[in-house]
Amino acid sequence: MTGNRSLLLPLLAGLAATVVVLLAFGGHYLFGQSGKTEPDTLSYPPSILRTSLKPPDNPAMEKPPGFLPPESVSVPILVYHNIAPHRPTESKMQQIFTVSPQMFDRQLRFLADSGYHPILPQLMRDVLDGTAQLPDKPVMLTFDDGWRTQYENAYPLLEEFGFKAVFYVFTNPMLHDNNRYLSWDMLSEMESHGMAVGSHSVTHPYLKKSSDEELTRELTQSRRSLEQNLGHQVYDFAYPFGQVDGRISAAVAQAGYLTARTLVHRTVATKKSLLELGGYIVTENFADFTGIFEVKK
Ligand SMILES: [Zn+2]
Repeated sequence: MTGNRSLLLPLLAGLAATVVVLLAFGGHYLFGQSGKTEPDTLSYPPSILRTSLKPPDNPAMEKPPGFLPPESVSVPILVYHNIAPHRPTESKMQQIFTVSPQMFDRQLRFLADSGYHPILPQLMRDVLDGTAQLPDKPVMLTFDDGWRTQYENAYPLLEEFGFKAVFYVFTNPMLHDNNRYLSWDMLSEMESHGMAVGSHSVTHPYLKKSSDEELTRELTQSRRSLEQNLGHQVYDFAYPFGQVDGRISAAVAQAGYLTARTLVHRTVATKKSLLELGGYIVTENFADFTGIFEVKK
């Protein structure tokens, strides 16, 4: 009995803390307002964390090159969020979704030293359309949520290595000039240096819970905002929280997107699976990072 109770108490405390965090985040992400104590991360549901964050015991490289199914490509897709120094006061969630600039630099160096070539979603589309060729050892670097630290801390290092990356932003904070997020000028500057921008919805909702109307609005309005502010068409999407099912991917196609990234551990893509590209969340753990590139025996 005592044993059970001692377990129950921390569990309840944890639950209460989660509710508080969710409430704090909910307001922030719906309204794009800035506050003093908001951490640089969204609160991911435990079910997504369990599958997306487990160490790559199933490494990304399912098959060595030359053994792929026809008409397919194999590209590990890395998912970054906040690039900033860790803080002693950070939450577990912040710790998971933050990679320090030092570690990011080390990871880019690993990619460069191992001969990897970062590509963008458009090249993946072109390759599967048969109009372009993949470089040797392709990899895709993706950044979610549009944190300003991505411009301040990740972009200079990407430039240093001559690497391209795609930035998936949700548009509400940008429309409210929230200074903890990227600005339109920052996105345009990065684009002019070879980076790409994709949509990550308007408010970063749980799309599985959105009505059909809300779903359509999240997909079309974010695309329209990006196109109006960046001055070109946008074809690439990343599912908020990685949430996707048949209804959601059909709406993504209907809204005019040609690729969409999940958080599923998978590297192989075909023309048919462009709306369910894989994604590996990268953390501060370097062994987990290099594990993504190990070829399965
Ligand atoms: Zn996100």
